[in-house]
Amino acid sequence: MTRNDIFAVAEKLMNDAAIAEKSAEVSALLNLADFSFFDAPIIGFAAADDPIFEQMKQPHIIGSHYVTPAQWLEGAKTVISIFVPYSAAVRKANAVCPKGEIAPQYIYAKNVTQPYLEKLADALYAAITAEGFSAVVPSRESDRMKAAVITPDGSRLQYTSGWSERHAAYACGLGTFGISGALITPKGTAGRYVSLVTDMPLPADERPYTDPYENCTMCGACVARCPGGAITLENKKDKAKCSAFVNTTKEIYAPLYGCAKCQCGVPCANGIPKK
Ligand code: SF4
Ligand code: SF4
Repeated sequence: MTRNDIFAVAEKLMNDAAIAEKSAEVSALLNLADFSFFDAPIIGFAAADDPIFEQMKQPHIIGSHYVTPAQWLEGAKTVISIFVPYSAAVRKANAVCPKGEIAPQYIYAKNVTQPYLEKLADALYAAITAEGFSAVVPSRESDRMKAAVITPDGSRLQYTSGWSERHAAYACGLGTFGISGALITPKGTAGRYVSLVTDMPLPADERPYTDPYENCTMCGACVARCPGGAITLENKKDKAKCSAFVNTTKEIYAPLYGCAKCQCGVPCANGIPKK
C-alpha cells in the first residue's frame, strides 16, 4: 500500500459521504439540498519515531500523560493525520451571522462530519490491516485516550485526553497553531481531524515550518470575533472561558453545541494568511 492508496481510500469515502449527506434529515431541515458541509480532506504523514512525539510529553506542550505513537502500538512506524475542512458555505455562514450567534450550518456541519470521520478512519484501518499490518485509531480507543491529571491549581483530578488530533496534524506537516488554538492549514482552520497509528512504513512529510505558531500573523482578528472573550494576543486562548461560552450554545442547539467564530471570517479561515 502506498500514500496514493491512502488518498484514494479517503477520496472514495468522501464521495460516498457526499451522497449520504444529501439524504440526511438535517439537510431537509435546513432546506440545504445542494449544500455541502465539508470539502476534500488533506492528509499528512509522520514517522512514528519522530522525536517531536516524545517532546509532546513536556509540561508546556501537552504533558506526561501524552501517549506517544510507540505507546499506542508496539512497532509503530507511521502516524497518518487527516483534516476534513468545513465547506466555504459553512465558513461563510458562521462568518456573516452576528457575533453572539452561531450559524446552524456550522452546528450541523460539526455533527454531520463526525460519522464521516469515523467511517474514514475505519476504512483506512480496514485497508491497512487487510495487508497484514496493525493500526490503531486513537479516537476510537476512548479508555486509552483518557488520562487523569491534576488541575493547574492542584486542587483535584480531572480527566483529559492522552492524544491530540491537532498536535498529530502539526507533527504530520498539516499546519501550525494560531492564538485561537486552531491549527492553521492550507485549507484554513475550521474542520475536523482524525488520525491513525500504524506499523505500516510510509514516507513522512517534511514539516514546512519550525515554529509552532509560524502560520499565525498575530493579527488579532480572532480576539475581536470571540463572543466569549476567551482569546488575547498575550495569553492566547483561555480554554475555560471558551468552554463556558460554547456551553451556552446548548440553550439553542442541545444536544448539539459549538462556536468556532474565531475560525470563520478571519484571515486564517480559508488558508495560511500572508504576513
Ligand atoms: S485570526 Fe489572526 S491572530 Fe487569530 S489565529 Fe488567525 S492569524 Fe492568528
Ligand atoms: S470557539 Fe468561540 S468561544 Fe471559543 S475561542 Fe473560539 S470564538 Fe471564542
